[in-house]
Amino acid sequence: MSANKMESEKKYECHRCWVQMDKKEIETFGPNVIIDVCPKCKGIWLDKGELGKLLKDRKLTDYLTKHIGTKSRSPMVCPRCGMTMDIEKADDIEVDVCLTCGGVWLDKGELEALTEKSEEGFEGDELAKREELEEERLYKARNSALNKFFKKFTR
Ligand SMILES: [Zn+2]
Ligand SMILES: [Zn+2]
Repeated sequence: MSANKMESEKKYECHRCWVQMDKKEIETFGPNVIIDVCPKCKGIWLDKGELGKLLKDRKLTDYLTKHIGTKSRSPMVCPRCGMTMDIEKADDIEVDVCLTCGGVWLDKGELEALTEKSEEGFEGDELAKREELEEERLYKARNSALNKFFKKFTR
């Protein structure tokens, strides 16, 4: 078995129920996408880029997965890399996005809701995104100020 094949067959654990997730093949307009589904809570894990293959509207995908910020608001940890995740909102739908690997966690029914939304033509919330960008900018500025501060003492 090749290394590539091993990777695609690697099973994730649902970080809500701690059970192994099942692989499920989804038909799309392009090549089929293999997603991971929790047999218990029906949550779905999508690796980076997979959401974009499932939704017709790139705007919605970008909205959810770009500029995801630096602050974690989600109690969840990423099933793939174990890092913290952030909650992203598209109107009333909340999804968890990994700050590190860019994977997306969808609770039961959220994929259907997002698909519907992308077919309606999602416009996004410019104000919320601006606030997030600003928050990220402040966070980075604060971090670099802190770094300078610590350098002073370690010199
Ligand atoms: Zn689960
Ligand atoms: Zn991750």
